[in-house]
Amino acid sequence: TQAVQSDEGFKGHGMLAPFTAGWQTSDLHPLVIEKSKGSYVYDIDGKKYLDSLAGLWCTALGGSEPRLVDAATKQLNTLPFYHSFWNRTTKPSLDLAKELLEMFTASKMKKVFFTNSGSEANDTQVKLVWYYNNALGRPNKKKFIARSKAYHGSTLISASLSGLPALHQKFDLPTPFVLHTDCPHYWRFHLPGETEEQFSTRLATNLENLIIKEGPETIAAFIAEPVMGAGGVIPPPEGYFEKVQAVVKKYDILFIADEVICAFGRLGTMFGCDKYNIKPDLVSIAKALSSAYMPIGAVLVSPEVADVISSQSNKLGALSHGFTYSGHPVACAVALEALKIYQERNIVDQVNSVAPKFQDGLKAFSSSPIIGEIRGTGLILATEFADNKSPDTPFPPEWGVGAYFGAQCAEHGMLVRIAGDNIMMSPPFIITPDELDELISIYGKALKATEKKVEE
Ligand code: PLP
Repeated sequence: TQAVQSDEGFKGHGMLAPFTAGWQTSDLHPLVIEKSKGSYVYDIDGKKYLDSLAGLWCTALGGSEPRLVDAATKQLNTLPFYHSFWNRTTKPSLDLAKELLEMFTASKMKKVFFTNSGSEANDTQVKLVWYYNNALGRPNKKKFIARSKAYHGSTLISASLSGLPALHQKFDLPTPFVLHTDCPHYWRFHLPGETEEQFSTRLATNLENLIIKEGPETIAAFIAEPVMGAGGVIPPPEGYFEKVQAVVKKYDILFIADEVICAFGRLGTMFGCDKYNIKPDLVSIAKALSSAYMPIGAVLVSPEVADVISSQSNKLGALSHGFTYSGHPVACAVALEALKIYQERNIVDQVNSVAPKFQDGLKAFSSSPIIGEIRGTGLILATEFADNKSPDTPFPPEWGVGAYFGAQCAEHGMLVRIAGDNIMMSPPFIITPDELDELISIYGKALKATEKKVEE
């Protein structure tokens, strides 16, 4: 976001590290956001921005939902904290777990483990899978396969699972038990003449070859986002998950769905797994779980995995894991209210009522000479700039084409996610048709200015 605020011009901003939370110092002249209302945020000078990324893909109900504030206040006044260790817990935590198990129907889930974030949820996944395989007497089945360009978080293990070199550097990451397979980005990686279906078949074959090379008895789980988010908004190509799931199943490998961005309606289905017929053994959620009003994440666990882990209670192999704030009652109370709102307001129908305008309105700009691809589904979309419209000829990074576009959007009152020459958007689910007109109009103005700049 530092690039958005920069007025240093066209050059130099394309090389910003894509995953920086930002040092909290004022000498960097950060954009300081002071308040939010619906789909908008306001900076300390009173400038209003349409928040096209819903914070960080998370404020699903926008920035001023009074019911979430009331739920937090009520819980703070009753029981601001109690933990969930040693078979102790709180009512909001139990109620939220029950609600989540009822809501997730893509495959059967039996247990919920609460975390504070998506990264912790994915770290928790790794531990649960290890405990599961230990209990089954196969401790060597402990490797994970993730995908290139995936984003699963920033803690050391979730950063390892992520397939982004910026997170790995020379830090001995990914850890040796994490392997990466192909990124399923058809536009960028398909062979000449290859259909989407053929591309998916090739990737599934590559995955199978990797499993065979490593030894199936060493591979514990495969992790995937239904639509890749921070790695560039990459919806799966035709047939992809069907083929990949068949491979994973064949070798007794667990499937972890990272639904941190996709869950609760983002793709126009309650979960991303519903959209792509994914039958996971484990699911990670966070972000829209509380509409981001409180930090909370969770792992949903299938009966098979949960029962094996539970069978070890009181033994040496018993699960030893948890956070002080796992199942924080205030976060759980807010999340419960968010889920209630999603259901009462038919949030999936709401998303589907505005998604075509969002997708079609922005994809209409695809013919721009500086745009390589606009891709997305539901309320998530990315624009990738490329010279000659080709993935093989990116603009020189030092031009900062994406950063310039982002700065133009900010200038006109809209915040977007910039990652090099990739611009990502995922507006709140409550965005109105009028607000979408504004979003599309600002995008158009920023695009025109960027086209002009590139031509110069
Ligand atoms: N998984 C996915 C798919 C994400 O998009 C993110 C964050 O953007 C994470 C995990 C990590 O979540 P958190 O930032 O809450 O740790």
